[in-house]
Amino acid sequence: MTSEIHCDSLWHGADIVTMRDGKYHTLSNGAIAVRDGKIVWLGEHAAMPATLIADETVKFDGGIITPGFVDCHTHLVFGGNRSGEFEQRLNGVSYAEIAAQGGGIISTVKATRDADEERLLEQALFRLRPLLAEGVTCVEIKSGYGLTPESELKMLRVARRLGEHLPVEVKTTCLAAHALPPEYANRADDYIDLVCNTIIPQAAAAGLADAVDAFCEHLAFSPAQVAKVFAAAEAAGLPVKLHAEQLSALGGSTLAAQHHALSADHLEYATEQDARAMGDAGTVAVLLPGAYYLLRETQCPPVDLFRKHGVAMAIASDANPGTSPALSLRLMINMACTLFRLTPEEALAGVTVHAAKALGLQASHGTLEAGKVADFVHWPLSRPAELAYWLGGQLPCTVIFRGEVRQ
Ligand SMILES: [Zn+2]
Repeated sequence: MTSEIHCDSLWHGADIVTMRDGKYHTLSNGAIAVRDGKIVWLGEHAAMPATLIADETVKFDGGIITPGFVDCHTHLVFGGNRSGEFEQRLNGVSYAEIAAQGGGIISTVKATRDADEERLLEQALFRLRPLLAEGVTCVEIKSGYGLTPESELKMLRVARRLGEHLPVEVKTTCLAAHALPPEYANRADDYIDLVCNTIIPQAAAAGLADAVDAFCEHLAFSPAQVAKVFAAAEAAGLPVKLHAEQLSALGGSTLAAQHHALSADHLEYATEQDARAMGDAGTVAVLLPGAYYLLRETQCPPVDLFRKHGVAMAIASDANPGTSPALSLRLMINMACTLFRLTPEEALAGVTVHAAKALGLQASHGTLEAGKVADFVHWPLSRPAELAYWLGGQLPCTVIFRGEVRQ
């Protein structure tokens, strides 16, 4: 007698776009069996073992199933917003005048420091819900607008609480080395000491950070300062990521690769040496078309070099108040195709399998395979390229998070 394979639920009636190895690898008329929030069997429905018994069966009327989307780079927690500056700039006020009025990132730092946790949580929920509505099941959230030990930890606590308030997997990143706080003007090395000796160790000890990030740029921190931040992260047992090569080529992404960073992000000015180093280290290139678009940049990230050197490319919203107030990851997929010339298959890999890798979650998330978490999305679409093709709007979808329909 053959023993039964018992599972909680069985989902079928649609084509399953598995995204295994970064390719569609579609199973036509597929089936997914789920137990305890994980995929226990997946294949073509016709090939399903007769011994597989499900408590509940859901049959879709056609369409496709993709892995849940992973937004692997966001700054969703912040006080206030900068729509006033957006309007001022379009009315002809210069960046210098706005900065002189206390605008720019420092205005967000002030608003974030002033806001209590409940207020920050409420504002972040407002931004997170639209991302979830279009299929995001895992989101990374960075600190970086507090820039004091207390307010950086406050941001990270709010990020963790978002994952308790809504059905979504949250990964947190300590980005204390995001900008120089005004009280440390002309004392960047002193601030880096605070980041390395106090903020990162405290965030790690409190279990509030899953990774450490920094902003390597002329207007932020130098590669030498970033190297100190990475050393502090390593001492705390945390993996690293880096905002690199967004506005100039400083070699930050090569530095990140040398530290086996999970990802280097932005990368408009990355060189072939950077791409080679990232490919060798397995560091993911996270492309952020929202910031490129809003800043009206003209230099695209070197997508051909990333392909040549086998660098996995992820796409993220970079949701932030200054350069990418993006509340749609699907719009970013479209922009990655139209602005950066990714193929729709590469762009979908960029919000699934490669985005999961950029968070160190490749063993559990990002593809539809037996053993992975049962996070997936049913779309009433004829082919996955439609996810990149439709511009804006909200496509109807059914999101399954850890094996259950998310309301
Ligand atoms: Zn960012």
